[in-house]
Amino acid sequence: MSDQNPVFIPGPTNIPDRLRRAMQVQTRDHRAPDFVETLAPVLEGVKKVLNTTDGRVVTFPSTGTGGWEAAVSNTLSPGDKVLVARYGMFSHRWIDLCQRHGLDVQIIETAWGAGAPADRFEEALRADTDYRIKAVLVTHNETATGVLSNIASVRAAMQAAGHPALLFVDAVSSLASVPFHMDEWGVDIVVSGSQKGFMLTTGMAILGVSPKALAAMQTARLPRTFFDFRDMMGANAKGGFPYTPPLQLIYGLSESLNMLFEEGLDNVYARHYRLAEGVRRAVDAWGLKLVAQSPDLYSDTVSAIYVPDGFDSNKLTDHAFHAYGVSFGIGLGEMNGRAFRIGHLGSLTDVMVLSGLATIEMAMADLNYPIRLGSGVAAAQEYFRQPARPAAKSAA
Ligand SMILES: *Cc1c(COP(=O)(O)O)cnc(C)c1O
Repeated sequence: MSDQNPVFIPGPTNIPDRLRRAMQVQTRDHRAPDFVETLAPVLEGVKKVLNTTDGRVVTFPSTGTGGWEAAVSNTLSPGDKVLVARYGMFSHRWIDLCQRHGLDVQIIETAWGAGAPADRFEEALRADTDYRIKAVLVTHNETATGVLSNIASVRAAMQAAGHPALLFVDAVSSLASVPFHMDEWGVDIVVSGSQKGFMLTTGMAILGVSPKALAAMQTARLPRTFFDFRDMMGANAKGGFPYTPPLQLIYGLSESLNMLFEEGLDNVYARHYRLAEGVRRAVDAWGLKLVAQSPDLYSDTVSAIYVPDGFDSNKLTDHAFHAYGVSFGIGLGEMNGRAFRIGHLGSLTDVMVLSGLATIEMAMADLNYPIRLGSGVAAAQEYFRQPARPAAKSAA
């Protein structure tokens, strides 16, 4: 299989050459006096992507899953209640993590393909008159279904209910690809990772933490050692790390931020919308349906697409891999066999997306899907070639 072919999975994403080079650095001493010059600007840069002035940024050698654990274990105590809606594989896994940490998880079951139900959150919070719910957990971009939820509406629901719970947001597959407004949305902890919108290798959890979450940390009793914010923030403040830092990833994140700021965050977001819209035009031309239930929920980083009745999406993704050497996202959980996913985040251009559409179209034609070869590509071409669209200059 050629490694020239991009992957169309929603993370880990394609790593631009510039970032591969940036991560190729020789060992340096993290106890040397100049380590602070490497780390501090990176943490500041992430704050810009989060749109926070009040929040603090912490990173761990870990992944998004570790970020979930850090969020929960630093702020909550055994038996604490958390409120969360389940509408896909990632919200499900965060629920599972909370349960295994001995939290009392109040789950709002929600259709896969729907988003965070602000109205039902409000109802549950209003009913919680003695404030037993300590945190509301929301998956911003449900990578299993291609649904982007409205975090502002969840915060508005919490305000309408006059409830003091913390708001935790999983932005693993949205941050640095779609706008995020930590302060404006009143997000107390946001969790992300290095290998999706930041276009890096896997291995770093990236979190933003509000002053309110920091205050909750003082009384939280869940055990934590490796992920203790206090150790990390204390060491970072002195220019250090509580253990060996993932130096190559810190260099990579520094360069990733340079790339994002050079392109301009607004242009990055416009590019993701544009790529996603090209994919959606193709899906429409094929006569297929997105898992996301309505346009307001469409994710600009991943599209989950139902295969027609009687077809198996696993056979499709397997065939695309074996016949053409290209990876697409499989259907996860409830969607297994029923939907495949096209990841369109990170280092991608219009032309790269066209190659992915052409490939999956060939795979569908090979398996006798009722689609017309070339129809999806043509629809995306028509969309991409319009001169009025935002410039196609990219981060690739
Ligand atoms: C990828 C992903 C995760 C898990 O992150 P890992 O880095 O694989 O641990 C969590 N949430 C969402 C929404 C994701 O897309």
